[in-house]
Amino acid sequence: MDKISTMSLLKELGLAPQKRFGQNFLISNSVSERITKIVIEDQSELIYEIGAGLGALSEFLVKSDKTIKLVEIDHGLAYYLAHHFATFDNVEVIDKDILKVQFPGQKLSIVSNLPYYITTSIIEKVILENDEIVNFVFMVQQELSERLFAETKSKQYGPLTILLELTGMLKLVMNVDQSAFFPVPNINSSVYVYRPKAHQLDTVGFYRFVKALFLMRRKTIANNLNTIVGNKELTAKILLASSIPDNKRPEEIEPEQYVTLYSNYENIKTV
Ligand code: SAM
Repeated sequence: MDKISTMSLLKELGLAPQKRFGQNFLISNSVSERITKIVIEDQSELIYEIGAGLGALSEFLVKSDKTIKLVEIDHGLAYYLAHHFATFDNVEVIDKDILKVQFPGQKLSIVSNLPYYITTSIIEKVILENDEIVNFVFMVQQELSERLFAETKSKQYGPLTILLELTGMLKLVMNVDQSAFFPVPNINSSVYVYRPKAHQLDTVGFYRFVKALFLMRRKTIANNLNTIVGNKELTAKILLASSIPDNKRPEEIEPEQYVTLYSNYENIKTV
C-alpha cells in the first residue's frame, strides 16, 4: 500500500482515518514486508494481527500457509478486510476490540502496528494472557520506546518495564520515519520483537502487585506496600526479608528485587 492507493481506498470505502482508533496506516511496503517476515518465518502456525486496518501488514501475512486472525475494532474496516481476503481459507477477520478477544492456549505469534491510544494495555494483555508466544512483533511511537527500556530511577521506569524485563527479551527491529504513515503522526515509530524467556513468575498476580506499588510513585515503598498489606508490622517484615530499605521509592527498586518482594509478600501475608 502506498499513499495514493491508501487514500483512494479510503475514499472508495467512504471512510476517513479515525483518530479515536489511532488510525495511522502504514504506506511503506518495504517496512510491512520486513515486519511480517519475522512472524511468517518463525515456527508458529497461528498469527494474530492486532488492528489490521486496511491490510498493509495482512497482505503479506495471508500469503503464508499459516492460520491468520485479523482483529479490527472498526466495523467498516473489518467488513472491508473480510471481503478483501474472502478467497483466503487461512484467514479469519475478528470484528472486535482486541481487549475483549481471548487468545487460544497454543503456540502463536502476534504482529501489530499498535494503535497508540492503548499501546500499553495491548502489550500487557498479550504478555499476561499468552504462555506460548513465539514472537510478538509490534510497532510503537517512539515516545513509548523510552518506557520499554527505562532504567531504574528514571521517570519512565515502571510496571511495564519490569514485566518486559522479567518475562522476555526485547529487541529493536527498526526505526520507522513518520512519513511512512498516512495520516502522518507527530513522531517517528520503532518496531520491536519480544520473545518470552523461561521464568517462574505468576505473571498476573505479580503484575497486579507491582502496579499497585507504583500507584503513588512519590511515596515510599513502605507506604505503598502498606496500602496493600494493611498492617505496618507485616509490611516492615516483608521489606526486611527482601533487604529493601523502607524509604526507597518504587522507581529505585530493580526488577529482580520486585520478584523477591512479591515472593516474601505471598509468604508472609498469610502467616
Ligand atoms: N495494521 C494497519 C497498518 O499498519 O496500516 C493499521 C494500523 S493503525 C496504527 C491501528 C489499527 O488498530 C487501526 O486500524 C484501528 O482501527 C485498530 N484498532 C484500534 N483500536 C483497536 C482495538 N481496541 N482492537 C482492535 N483494533 C483496534
